[in-house]
Amino acid sequence: MVKFKKIFILLICMIICVSPAFMLVGCKKNDLKKVSKNLTSYAISAEVLSEDKITAKETIEYVNQTESELNNLCLHLYPRAFREDAIIKPYTALTMASCFPNGQSYGDMEIVSVKVNDKTSEKEIVGEDEDILKVNFGTILKPKGKIKIDIEFSLSLPNCTHRFGFYEGNINLGNWYPIACEYENGKFDTTPYYSTGDPFFSSVANYEVELKYPSEYKLCATGVMESTTNSGKTTAKMQAKAVRDYAMCLSNDSVIVSKNIGEITVNYMGYQSDSDLNENLNISVKAIEYFSKTFGKFPYSSLSVVKTPFIYGGMEYPNIVFVSDSLDSDDEMKKVIVHEIAHQWWYSIVGNNEAKEAWLDESLAEYSTALFFKNNTGFGISYDEIVASALSSYLLYVDVIEAIRGEVNTKMNLAVNEYQNDYEYSYMVYVKGVIMFDELRKTVGENKLINGLKKYYETNKFKLANKNSFYEAFKTACHKDLNGFFDGYLNGTTIIASIN
Ligand SMILES: [Zn+2]
Repeated sequence: MVKFKKIFILLICMIICVSPAFMLVGCKKNDLKKVSKNLTSYAISAEVLSEDKITAKETIEYVNQTESELNNLCLHLYPRAFREDAIIKPYTALTMASCFPNGQSYGDMEIVSVKVNDKTSEKEIVGEDEDILKVNFGTILKPKGKIKIDIEFSLSLPNCTHRFGFYEGNINLGNWYPIACEYENGKFDTTPYYSTGDPFFSSVANYEVELKYPSEYKLCATGVMESTTNSGKTTAKMQAKAVRDYAMCLSNDSVIVSKNIGEITVNYMGYQSDSDLNENLNISVKAIEYFSKTFGKFPYSSLSVVKTPFIYGGMEYPNIVFVSDSLDSDDEMKKVIVHEIAHQWWYSIVGNNEAKEAWLDESLAEYSTALFFKNNTGFGISYDEIVASALSSYLLYVDVIEAIRGEVNTKMNLAVNEYQNDYEYSYMVYVKGVIMFDELRKTVGENKLINGLKKYYETNKFKLANKNSFYEAFKTACHKDLNGFFDGYLNGTTIIASIN
């Protein structure tokens, strides 16, 4: 029983996010100006009517960046995963209690109207779980061609602590609007909203978002914000170039503290009664500085770290990350903040299919967190202890599962829905990731490891990377074929035996 309890506690600590300046001036704006050309753009105008009701109008100027002629576009309707009759739920029996502290609640997204190039179009809901909007163009869209789609929609928010929901004066708006599916191998990727991991996959696009909301709320969001207040209503206008997704968080009990580093404004939004606002802002700033210096420049003008009621440890979105208000300790808060900020590099700027290759961003974010504490010793968190704890808990997990089931899956490279449960996913993707990268550090040295990550970042920023792009970067940077090393860990053939 002790072992199980220990595993449970470790797992709770590890299930983080199912879920970053000095030389920044100069290149930053040019970088974004260059990559934001000819991208798909989203213009969304939304109003918060109440904590559980939002109406919105979205105009997408979709650019066909595939090499195929398209006659339709599929869009994810993620909020529909929260509806009562959804078959694939974004939570499990294990996470239900922390997701719905006030009891089970449902949400939905209703598509009110669809227009293609200003002409009314059919509202065709498809997908494995009626979670995809298929927009038929009525014409052929050639590669590099552009088409205008207008979608009017309304949102019902569940009373919950998930990425999309409201709870005790906080409104989490992650994965809340129709977003284009990626097109691969002749079809759109319509992966549903699985409960395990962050099952998201999207390309960078340009966003202009306007949100009208009751003025008692504070707002943090992706992008640069300007706001005006009139008669108890605030209207915020945000602009974000070349970002992979768009998220917001509102809170009626929060304060925002900010610091500028170079051209970047770093915000930390925490509760009014908190005594650690500046402490958490400080570590956020340090994380951005360290990762910028170590992996490559943070290209955007803002980053907000938002404390909010949240089902997991935290969640990453471009320019904004959520951290849970119910973490066990100050050290856990620090680790989650740094982990989520590391995702700005791994997932947000260098993108990947988080549903199919979760290890690629999660293992990197988790190990980058360990590297941060190794090189920023003032926070009192030991790199050696992080690695030793990962190793001992991994070995314990493997022992226990083998004893129970007679076998244990040790693959890191499964799709999120192929893991049997959140435990298996967490141990293979987060914990084993730390062990793998620490072993690589011992094999090639820390400088070469960091050169590999720099190369991976530089080559793949603003793009969608995969295992091959990762392998290629390390081969180039380390002058050594490390495919066998990585394959052994990813496929589960490398046996991790004992503490050495
Ligand atoms: Zn993560």
